[in-house]
Amino acid sequence: MKKVLVAGGGGFIGGYLVKKLISAGHQVTAVDVKPLEEWYQVHTEASNFSRDLALLNECEKSMKGIDEVYNLAADMGGMGFIENNKAACMLSVLINTHLLMAAKENNVKRFFYASSACVYNASKQVSEDNPGLKEEDAYPAMPEDGYGWEKLFSERMCRHFYEDYGIETRVARYHNVYGPLGTWDGGREKAPAALARKVAKAKIESSKQIEIWGDGEQTRSFTYIDDCIEGTLRLMESNIREPINIGSDQMVSINQMVDILETIAGLGLEREYNLNAPKGVRGRNSDNTLVQELMGWEPTITLEEGLKKTFDWIYGEILGKKDGK
Ligand code: NAD
Repeated sequence: MKKVLVAGGGGFIGGYLVKKLISAGHQVTAVDVKPLEEWYQVHTEASNFSRDLALLNECEKSMKGIDEVYNLAADMGGMGFIENNKAACMLSVLINTHLLMAAKENNVKRFFYASSACVYNASKQVSEDNPGLKEEDAYPAMPEDGYGWEKLFSERMCRHFYEDYGIETRVARYHNVYGPLGTWDGGREKAPAALARKVAKAKIESSKQIEIWGDGEQTRSFTYIDDCIEGTLRLMESNIREPINIGSDQMVSINQMVDILETIAGLGLEREYNLNAPKGVRGRNSDNTLVQELMGWEPTITLEEGLKKTFDWIYGEILGKKDGK
């Protein structure tokens, strides 16, 4: 049994991680800047605190007696959010920096940082036929402006806290994580939830049209939340000190994802392409050679399987809102 701090425990991935750590018998402290009533999941077996971890003293308060830290706290969202809030995204550097400083002072043994595929060099993502991004493709550095630069800088901060102070740091580059209990409206949602919402609304309202950002031929891979949690825990236990991909390599275009959602919903829609909307890079996929070699593992849940669960949950949420719940 370890004493574990989950920073960002009120968020999407954090909520699942807290649950898994509790079920593994650990003593968990979950901290998030949001008030508790806005947390996606509140697990009463954990100690839950609403605190701003951008502040050093709040990090210090949260770190007392802690053995291991998972930092999932960040000001983030999908393309629509990160392209329009670059300063806010970069300010997340305060969270990871202050958490590392407090971890060092409190002799924390292990520290996990949630990085992103947004660290990869943009020039390696200009074609929709992306063969997969290898870990080395982050350099020479040309990451996503704002959000990606913060992630890349914080990755390096983790590296140097190991080299200079001996804290065992682990860094995952997540590729588009999705699933039930995630953000699905309000402007921070990512493509799988946004498209599942649009298709679900079309079904509920018997409408025929759907708006798609870009021409729909941009490609991505999407990682179901259960695979993300499994990879995170395996990485934390491993001896891998370099950043590593935690991502599915089932690459699809946005149009192909809409095809899957239409099949799930049992309808066909007319697609309107908004070419002025934020689109991000042209093609992105995860190369899982290194994660297979070092961890003997890679994500296994298919997009069809994961989207079905996500669509059903979002469909229920929309109906619940309509019923005034
Ligand atoms: P999320 O937005 O649901 O969770 C992040 C949480 O951090 C939020 O609950 C937010 O309130 C909290 N937070 C923000 N500022 C804070 C502060 N100052 N102090 C304390 N808490 C603060 O996002 P998520 O999808 O769960 O992502 C978790 C981590 O994984 C983030 O670092 C994110 O950048 C990274 N990541 C996620 C994805 C993805 O597809 N979801 C992909 C790549 C990387």
